[in-house]
Amino acid sequence: MQQQPKTHLNPRSPLVLDTRELPRRPGAMRTVSRAVEAPDRLGLDLIGVPKGATLDLDLRLESVSEGVLVSGTVTGAVEGECGRCLAALGETLTVRIQELFAYENSTTDETTDEDEVRRLQGDLIDLEPVVRDAVVTALPTNPLCREDCPGLCAECGEPWDDLPADHTHDQIDARWAALTQLRTEE
Ligand SMILES: [Zn+2]
Ligand SMILES: [Zn+2]
Repeated sequence: MQQQPKTHLNPRSPLVLDTRELPRRPGAMRTVSRAVEAPDRLGLDLIGVPKGATLDLDLRLESVSEGVLVSGTVTGAVEGECGRCLAALGETLTVRIQELFAYENSTTDETTDEDEVRRLQGDLIDLEPVVRDAVVTALPTNPLCREDCPGLCAECGEPWDDLPADHTHDQIDARWAALTQLRTEE
């Protein structure tokens, strides 16, 4: 037995599922359809589901011989900013999840590692890492407000979208050039 000390799950945590209502008989099924608050931020640096945002869970819990198969969708509002122009981004993201959680002391529990197959803790399922992985995978690492976002002017930092087409900093450059010239003439 190589039992590792386990952190105890809080059954009232929004992304912890209680399977007590689900008979441990293969084929038994329960649905979970509810809105919860994201217990933590889920996502990447520039984009993610903020802590406290509403997550709509639409899940099916199915008893299989070695554990519980959780499948369905999680939907939440994503907030972020464009990687080029820093404009605020907001969209609704739906991720599909499908994950097996093995019963403690089942054959699967004894023959696989916890990073291969997730485990139930007693009757509880910790869905947070699964949702987190699915959200992170679905999000772009370099989010853009639109595919051809021109970004910011490197000189003044204004978004190109807000600047006139002939925007340029040549004038300033010319003045600097003149100053440089004066100095060399001294
Ligand atoms: Zn942009
Ligand atoms: Zn500029």
